[in-house]
Amino acid sequence: MTLDPQNNHPRAETGDPGAGEGGARTAATVEGVDLQALAAREGTPLHVYSATAIRQRMASLQAALQGLDALVCYAVKANSNGAILRLLAEQGAGADIVSGGELWRALRAGIAPEKIVFSGVGKREDEIVQALDAGIARFNVESRAELDLLQRLAQARGTVARAAARINPDVDAHTHAKISTGKSENKFGVSIAEARSWFESAAQRPHVRLDGLHMHIGSQILQLAPIREALRRLARFWRELEGAGHRVASIDVGGGLGVRYRAGEQAPAATAYVAEIRAALAGYEGLLVLEPGRWLVAEAGLLLTRALLTKHGEQRDFLVVDAAMNDLLRPSLYDAWHDIVRLGDNGGREIVAYDVVGPVCETGDTFALARTLPRCEAGDLLAIAATGAYGASMASTYNSRPLAAEVLVDDGRHVVVRRRQTLQEMVAGERSPGEWQWT
Ligand SMILES: *Cc1c(COP(=O)(O)O)cnc(C)c1O
Repeated sequence: MTLDPQNNHPRAETGDPGAGEGGARTAATVEGVDLQALAAREGTPLHVYSATAIRQRMASLQAALQGLDALVCYAVKANSNGAILRLLAEQGAGADIVSGGELWRALRAGIAPEKIVFSGVGKREDEIVQALDAGIARFNVESRAELDLLQRLAQARGTVARAAARINPDVDAHTHAKISTGKSENKFGVSIAEARSWFESAAQRPHVRLDGLHMHIGSQILQLAPIREALRRLARFWRELEGAGHRVASIDVGGGLGVRYRAGEQAPAATAYVAEIRAALAGYEGLLVLEPGRWLVAEAGLLLTRALLTKHGEQRDFLVVDAAMNDLLRPSLYDAWHDIVRLGDNGGREIVAYDVVGPVCETGDTFALARTLPRCEAGDLLAIAATGAYGASMASTYNSRPLAAEVLVDDGRHVVVRRRQTLQEMVAGERSPGEWQWT
């Protein structure tokens, strides 16, 4: 298996295209780093990221944006490891944050505050103050209560907060219900009518400079049509505001661009996506902000896991691996598909349909149902593909499983960018009875 930086899906180097499932020999490398050796050295489960793949994604997006006054604010929640943030910062990325913790991480990774935008429906006062003090570029405001709070907090600090109204364009992104955010029934953003009233009453909030528009309609969007429709509604509102004399200095089109989780799946190209933005916002001369998360990092990552055992049930064959839903939640949370590859010599192996499951005590701890793989044995190494986004960043220690290690691969070398959590670290915040102070 190779992670081709252009299109780094696990694929057999020889044999037929479907060889990921039972093909012949698979050369298991990422940027020249042998995955068997890597797993032997660093243990499993192990998150592996390709630096080259991330750089190439960023470069291709920037190439598509050529000639536009555009800022790519990477959505930190997709993968918040400091190494990933630094890598993207080096490529010119800013950050889209949704918490004080993400602000802290972004600043720590060297991302300039002028390149940070703050989204989220429930920003706490202390988080807003933290962001005001840091001097971030813009607050993406999602409710009138937040707008009023921003005015109050900025006034108290004698400053002016820059803000964008997050509109909910009420389009169906045709993605999983749990990652759809742009329908009027979703908690995100406000109606255009509500946003309009904010601009009309802007003079009442002198400590908020409301001069931006924002939207984000959902995640893992594979079709351009809903994006086109949302952009059309956004652009119509921008033109209306300009016509009414309101200056719009920033338009933030959010993130959501989908990736290929499944061999054969088609994801929109950066150029096609940006072409939609160019068309919808023709004539716009302010700053364009994009907030891709998944698209930049998902396919640059994989999760290495070892088979613990196989189990022949009455109805199904189970392949129990050492990674679990606490390491990669997407299949449990969204019924998400991830390609799975058995690494090693698969020549002549019988093909078996396995339910690939983790050791956690939940039926939902299932990575795949009836997945065809070459027959596996205890100790076999497998790669779960496209886990670079919403993998490690969604991890927990459920079942008291310490957080897995994360490794960055770059040009034939690798470095541990997060070491495996120790049991001591896992309980570090807990207090034993001798330390309790009842109040
Ligand atoms: C999650 C999120 C993003 C990133 O979404 P992706 O699907 O990972 O690109 C961008 N903007 C906002 C406001 C978000 O909440």
